Amino acid sequence: MVKKRKSGGRSRKGGNAGNVQCSCCGRFVPKDKVKTVTKQVSLVDYKLKKELLDQGTILPRTTVVQNYCVSCAIHRHVLASRPKEERKDHTPLR
Ligand SMILES: [Zn+2]
Repeated sequence: MVKKRKSGGRSRKGGNAGNVQCSCCGRFVPKDKVKTVTKQVSLVDYKLKKELLDQGTILPRTTVVQNYCVSCAIHRHVLASRPKEERKDHTPLR
C-alpha cells in the first residue's frame, strides 16, 4: 500500500499519545495529530487600544493556545493539501 506520509500525519512513533478536544468542532483528536496554533491576544477593545498606545501605555496580552483537528485546520487555512514534492516543506502557511 502506498504511504502518503512517512509519519502517517503524526509526531509520535507508536503508543497512545492521549486525546485532546478540537477548539473548533469539539472532536477528540490524538494529541500527536492535532495542529496547535498559539497567538497573542489583547484584552483591550481595538479603538481603546489605539488611543492607549498613542499615550504610551503598556497593554497586557494573553497567550491563547488552540488545538485544531485536521479538517478544521484545513478549513481555517492552518494546513493545506499540497502536491507530493511540496509536502516535505515544513514552513508554516501563515
Ligand atoms: Zn475540529
